[in-house]
Amino acid sequence: MQYTAVIGLEVHVQLKTESKMFTRVAYRYGDEPNTLTDAVVMGLPGVLPVLNLEAIRKSIQVGLLFGSRIPDVCKWDRKHYFYPDMPKNYQITQYDQPICVGGQVEIELEGASRNVMGEHKTIELTRAHLEEDVGKLTHTGGDSLVDYNRAGAPLLEIVTEPVIYTADEAFAFLTSLKLHLLYAGLADCDMEKGGLRCDANISIRPQGSTTLGTKVELKNLNSISGVRNGIEYEIKRQIRAVENGEMIVQQTRRWDAEKGVTTLMRTKEYAHDYRYFPDPDLMPVRISEEWRQELLAKLPEKPFDKQRRFISQYDLPYTLTSVLYPLPELCDFFEAAVKEHANPKLIANLVANDLLRELSNAGLTPKKSRITPAMLAGLVRLVDDGSISKQIAQDVLIEMFASGETADVIVDRKGLKQTSDTGELEAIILAVLADNPKPVEQYKAGNEKAINALKGPVMKATKGKANPNVVDELMKKLINR
Ligand code: ADP
Ligand code: MG
Repeated sequence: MQYTAVIGLEVHVQLKTESKMFTRVAYRYGDEPNTLTDAVVMGLPGVLPVLNLEAIRKSIQVGLLFGSRIPDVCKWDRKHYFYPDMPKNYQITQYDQPICVGGQVEIELEGASRNVMGEHKTIELTRAHLEEDVGKLTHTGGDSLVDYNRAGAPLLEIVTEPVIYTADEAFAFLTSLKLHLLYAGLADCDMEKGGLRCDANISIRPQGSTTLGTKVELKNLNSISGVRNGIEYEIKRQIRAVENGEMIVQQTRRWDAEKGVTTLMRTKEYAHDYRYFPDPDLMPVRISEEWRQELLAKLPEKPFDKQRRFISQYDLPYTLTSVLYPLPELCDFFEAAVKEHANPKLIANLVANDLLRELSNAGLTPKKSRITPAMLAGLVRLVDDGSISKQIAQDVLIEMFASGETADVIVDRKGLKQTSDTGELEAIILAVLADNPKPVEQYKAGNEKAINALKGPVMKATKGKANPNVVDELMKKLINR
């Protein structure tokens, strides 16, 4: 029998806000342990929570970004459990009236080629609810340490429908989710710093079956590729178990990235009874249509929309847009340069290959680059007016990046202007033809491509300063003479 897998993801995202969810204490990653706390974070008796408005705004924007319904009213509930990472012994969360309902995330699957986008599909969201993060426990050599800096940070839990069918789809989902949130400045989604955390629910069923199998929850997936590897392993494990006559029982398992296996954490018997009830300290939140519209208007263009626009508006090949679109600052740089000089193809090539390489070598963002969009446009203008070749332009870009000088200044100083002196060029070409009788014969015999072998030596002799079109024309004329 063939089995197929069904996956649903529960993703926790730390929202990008200055302060915590229910108090003014700052939230940042990496501070001295237990320095970002106060009486509210510690859950001391008599304190009252106060809502972080920015966290509400950003949660609404996450929903609007993914086309979720934002109900008129959402409310707060207490989820009770006893664990040292949570000093109040209950977490403020949303149970039956979350801030976002439904929605979908567009993902791209494999199958892309140079000029064709890969297959796209959407993954339906169930809901997203806002809650407070808990502290962090570290177990070292017999000691258990707790740091409450993270406790109370605004956390949005985004839950998908069970409509993900492969580990690759889960990978594509998280990649897309993260990129959307980064684009809109709603979250940093740094998995290493706990800014995005993901639990995966996985079940299998016989191919063709439409009922869901018993799910296993997978935890400790610490990177997006960890999610993919963990799911891949767990699907195989479940299929092997069923084929050996075992029953899958509902349980929580832990992904061990080092050993590449999942191990049992707990079974359903140990499921918590959280005794949810409405938090009496917090009023429900009412969200008006006006507010929704105001927040919607502030959202930027979505990643795949930008990619599609780059393909249609600038006629760029898919592969080039797929380098650009995950980097919104670089996209802005590209578009600003195109506004100065309308050669989108060459500008995109230089930005996506040469500029990006220099930026990553230097560890800089486009805004910190010494090359401005106007300077890049100036460089491309020199190519388009025939002053320099594309190859020379690539060298000049490296120099511009290092020195901050304009292309004109560098080209002048180094004497890089293309040779337009055909007399000098003619002498060079004739010498190359005399040195290479074989390709000349082949070309004369009808092999058009043979001529290409002659161009390299000419370029070398002119140190790349010959205009390729002029060389081509002149060479043909001289051979056919
Ligand atoms: P629970 O009550 O155990 O938290 P939920 O119904 O809230 O379960 O679902 C949690 C996540 O598990 C969701 O992302 C959902 O899509 C996914 N899920 C639910 N049932 C299955 C299943 N049988 N197989 C795979 N994923 C599932
Ligand atoms: Mg649930």
